[in-house]
Amino acid sequence: MSELDTIRQEINQLDHELLSILSKRKQLSLDVAKNKLKVPKPVRDSERERSILTSLVHQAREQGLEAHYISRLYQLIMENSVLAQHAYIQNIQNPELKLPSATIAFLGDKGSYSHLAARRHLARNEQQLVECCCRTFADVIRAVENGQAEYGILPIENTCSGSINEVYDLMQHTQLSIIGELSLPIEHCLLAPEGAELNKLTTVYSHPQAIQQCSDFFANYPQIRLEYCDSTSAAMQKVQEMNRPDVAAIGNADGADIYQLKNLHQQIANHSENYTRFIITSRKPVEVSSQIPAKCTLVLSTGQKAGSLAEVLLILREHNINMSKLESRPVPTSPWEELFYIDVESHLQSEPMQQALNELTRVTRHIKVLGCYPSETIQPTELPTEALQPQAEPKIAAQPAAESKPAQAPAKTSANKSTKKPPLVSREHKAQDTRIQIGQLEIGGDQFITMAGPCSVESCEQIHETALIVKEFGGHMLRGGCFKPRTNPYSFQGLGYQGLDYMQQAGQSARLPIITEVMDREDVHKVALQADVLQIGARNMQNFALLKEVGKTTRPILLKRGLMSSLDELLGAAEYILAHGNQQVMLCERGIRTFETATRNTLDLSAVPLLKQMTHLPIIIDPSHAVGKRDLVLPMAKAAKAVGAHGIIVEVHPDPDKALSDAEQQLNFEQYQQMMGELYR
Ligand code: PEP
Ligand code: MN
Repeated sequence: MSELDTIRQEINQLDHELLSILSKRKQLSLDVAKNKLKVPKPVRDSERERSILTSLVHQAREQGLEAHYISRLYQLIMENSVLAQHAYIQNIQNPELKLPSATIAFLGDKGSYSHLAARRHLARNEQQLVECCCRTFADVIRAVENGQAEYGILPIENTCSGSINEVYDLMQHTQLSIIGELSLPIEHCLLAPEGAELNKLTTVYSHPQAIQQCSDFFANYPQIRLEYCDSTSAAMQKVQEMNRPDVAAIGNADGADIYQLKNLHQQIANHSENYTRFIITSRKPVEVSSQIPAKCTLVLSTGQKAGSLAEVLLILREHNINMSKLESRPVPTSPWEELFYIDVESHLQSEPMQQALNELTRVTRHIKVLGCYPSETIQPTELPTEALQPQAEPKIAAQPAAESKPAQAPAKTSANKSTKKPPLVSREHKAQDTRIQIGQLEIGGDQFITMAGPCSVESCEQIHETALIVKEFGGHMLRGGCFKPRTNPYSFQGLGYQGLDYMQQAGQSARLPIITEVMDREDVHKVALQADVLQIGARNMQNFALLKEVGKTTRPILLKRGLMSSLDELLGAAEYILAHGNQQVMLCERGIRTFETATRNTLDLSAVPLLKQMTHLPIIIDPSHAVGKRDLVLPMAKAAKAVGAHGIIVEVHPDPDKALSDAEQQLNFEQYQQMMGELYR
């Protein structure tokens, strides 16, 4: 046996051991569930999860493993445990879930996305699927109603194409209950018989939805004719039967196995993150244990008088019931009357829900509970940035940023006489701090956040390498310029959209949201498709056409203070964005021009407490562009935290001296790590 073979054998052995350890761990976690049944406590204990994660990343680092890798791995393991515990507890309460198999009605044939969803649903209870293939959604409902199937699975919404109205409309008229939900990642692939080649294809078959979701990919192959089928499974079946090297189907990896097709190309969809949420229906409602999180779906109609929907929502608010979805559908028999479908995060039997339902009968014409079922959303437990600092004692509670109390409302300024409407940016318009939500991240709250990354995206490797380091030591967002505002037209201008692609991939693999500058009005909406936050650079602070355009997007904006701009002018610029609809603006102090030339600019730290009096918007400090020297970044970052900024944006580069822009001010990885330690430890 060669040396390589010996090593590989050792790896195989380790993988085998890892699996048996994981399986033992799962068994123990089910023992925990049994125990929890005796003392009815909620399954989820986030505090404990956080302390386990903290301890694990510290142990992992001692063994040479990265924190971001280990925390991601354990988030998955914990999610699996939580779902298994939920399923266990649910099974005790609902004996029919313990049967060895169940019949599920679904749209299409084997290998359709509905089929995959059905299989996955039953796998949670280790039940075997008996297939009941249906031609239409209405057939699915009928099959359950007439007892041909125990359950029906129906797609209700897709993250790219939205709600599936037909299914909502069918739910109006059925007596079936919703007993579960499931989201499935949709990963379209190009499948063909053995021997086919991408460049020789002439025809591709699929469902119209799938073809539409892959339009960008096929734009590159104009010679391929696209043909519609009833479902993706029908397309795969057809291609299998035709067995020709020039035809293919859009399907999924499981379909490739079922129909013995070769995967010619993976991930051909326009958007890489594409999920469909399914509901599971049954004749009999399910009992949901109070130990696991639940959802209810209601359908109701209100009168047509002004504010009748608001009355419904106010009742939910009064009982502190969170609404996760609201959908309206017309009532065909009664023109202009609407039915509302509402998902709420609550148990049907809970006291607040029962009270709310009772009150809702007073303000609705008709109300029906379509079902109460276990919620499948498991928010991963995130580690506090403090816990990611090497040598730090494991600390559970996040430290609030210095001066986290909301600033006092200022005295009215003379510019705003009480008769005039106060500006949207002012505390008079809105007293509470604006909090900006980007996925799991909140900016403007108690947590001091760090955005970090290179001045410019220079290559795929550079941005990936930086992203992982930013994440490893607790950074919250990845920065990087793709369109660069350079003083000299012959300097590096950025990689443009190519750079943005690299950055989006890097952000995805490190699980960090990304922020990038947009300079041209024409690019705004295109960049907003990929970037989580849009930056307006200092030189563009008063580019009013650009400000109006970003005001029309739904992405949060980081607005940098101009080199020679007063705070009033900065607020005036922010007002443009808010006035055009976008209320999610962060202000960034990045140093202003003064007579002092020893630093690149002069960091105006007093702007932070002052702005906090004048406005409700979050305030971010950019120490890098303020000082222009990497040695001065750390003390100014600490100062930013001390004066109560909500966060910082700093430049970090794998090899700052070789950087294509702002070489003197970018931190190297070691300095970044040190800074994070001093800020958060
Ligand atoms: C930047 O953040 O990359 C940048 C160009 O900053 P500023 O607009 O503050 O000069
Ligand atoms: Mn820069």
